[in-house]
Amino acid sequence: MVRPHEAVARRRVAVLPGDDAAPEAVEATMGLLEAMALPVEWVVLPDGETMARKFSRPERDQLIRETVDSCAAALFGATSGKTGAVWYLRWGKDTYANVRPVRWREGVPSPLRDPAGIDYVIVRENLEDLYVGIEGDLGALRSSGLDLRPHGGRIDVSPSIGPATAADGRFAVKVLTKENTERVAHFACRLARERKGRGYPGKVTCSCKYNVLPQSDGFFRHTVAAVVAGYPELDYEEYIVDDFARRLVATPRDLDVVVMPNLYGDILSDEAAATVGGLGVAPSGCYGDGFAYFEPVHGTAPDIAGRGIVNPTATTLSAAMLLRHLGLALDASRLESAVDATLAAADNLTPDLGGRGTTRSFTGAVLSRIGQGR
Ligand code: ATP
Repeated sequence: MVRPHEAVARRRVAVLPGDDAAPEAVEATMGLLEAMALPVEWVVLPDGETMARKFSRPERDQLIRETVDSCAAALFGATSGKTGAVWYLRWGKDTYANVRPVRWREGVPSPLRDPAGIDYVIVRENLEDLYVGIEGDLGALRSSGLDLRPHGGRIDVSPSIGPATAADGRFAVKVLTKENTERVAHFACRLARERKGRGYPGKVTCSCKYNVLPQSDGFFRHTVAAVVAGYPELDYEEYIVDDFARRLVATPRDLDVVVMPNLYGDILSDEAAATVGGLGVAPSGCYGDGFAYFEPVHGTAPDIAGRGIVNPTATTLSAAMLLRHLGLALDASRLESAVDATLAAADNLTPDLGGRGTTRSFTGAVLSRIGQGR
């Protein structure tokens, strides 16, 4: 039962299955978690279709807020809009650092000839950049008094068509704040430091388009560099984002912890996922100072919904990140090891990994490697 305004229990976790194929992956993952008999209280909401059928939009939104507020963390499938106000997990709970591990696991097919040893983490800023969602008509921007000639009039050209002259057009605002960039950079540094303690190189790589956007991405770059300078035990490097896109295919083993603004991080972490086997195996966690939620990198995979073949690995590995966040590191390792062993044995792999297994048969194979109880 949800008790919205009580003190949040440390291990009460909201489960939002989401929409389309996502609930199939969440249900499979919950089967594993429940079999593990963990000291966690799971508060499971209905999937998006059921939510939309049973509740009005305001009721759904309120249910999500109250449930999330009563929990310390959440496991989330993915949404195509049916579930309700899942944006509350991000902006409502201030989860500013999206952590997307990129690690190749034995047995997983990769388009790279040799993916062995790829093991780094992308930390994507999660709240700002173009995702502030401020868009509008070009005319409104023009009347703001902003100089809309190329480079604000600092270069002596006047193209026949452009924002200063076009009759019709739209704009989107990209915002990067110092406070938020600093806390994401600190998050990346703490992660790199913690990984260094586990034998990783202890390096932070910053990437964005600072050559073309010195005022915004240049600001992100300098802010990150200044924060990393406060961690003398860490190395630091920076790459323009197009060069970085090449590097994560050509030399991915050189990476440790990567920090990027929201949009580049979103796009490039999908590319990074492809190098280690695709979206079906890519987990993520979104961390704030008082709350965190965990979700696969993939969306709702509507094209395969209802066919029983969605790969639950990304969601299951996201759940392992959740367990680690809750202080259940041994259980997290137990779950991950069972997934790793199942993948390595190519046991009932789902079609996205070239197998003939189903969501259910793959999950059964993982379960047989976990064993029952704690
Ligand atoms: P979004 O805009 O929310 O990212 P999308 O439909 O653009 O959604 P995905 O849902 O991530 O993107 O799906 C992209 C492709 O990858 C689809 O063909 C989908 O079936 C496939 N895919 C994604 N996740 C999985 C998964 N867990 N198992 C198998 N295939 C998947």
